[in-house]
Parts: sequence; C-alpha cells; structure tokens
Amino acid sequence: MLRFLIFFVLLYVIYKIIRMIRQEKPFAVRSNHNKTTSALGEELVEDSYCHTYIPISQACRKEIAGKEHYFCSKECSEKYINKNK
Ligand SMILES: [Zn+2]
Repeated sequence: MLRFLIFFVLLYVIYKIIRMIRQEKPFAVRSNHNKTTSALGEELVEDSYCHTYIPISQACRKEIAGKEHYFCSKECSEKYINKNK
C-alpha cells in the first residue's frame, strides 16, 4: 500500500514537471522569435538634441543636471551639453 502511494506521488510529480515544461516551451520559442525579429516591440527613446527616436539598447544615455537624456550618438550628446552650457 505504501509503495503504491509513493509511486502515485512520483507519478504526480512527473506529471507536474511535464506540465511545467510544456508551459515554458511556447514562451521560450516566443522569446527566441523576438530576438530574430530584432527591434520590434523594443522601447524607443527620444534624442534630446536632434529629436529622433532610437531603440533604448542603441541609445547613448547621459545624465545632465539630474535628468536622464538619450542621444542617437556621442556627437549629439556633446552638442546638447555645449548648447546648454
Ligand atoms: Zn541625435
């Protein structure tokens, strides 16, 4: 009787693990898909100097006077700092 109970618990644990794997699989496929379709769905930030929008991963982040600013390039950040001197 005890053996049967242990077997049943084991079966239940295996069932839970399989369910977990099955639930994770489509999510993993989805995240891989996002990587191949690159910047789609990525957060865009505005360049404080030339006002173009760039993906946050490619933006040059600078903290000026306690405020966060994003720039498309180093040149833009330098121009912005010089302009606001
Ligand atoms: Zn710019």
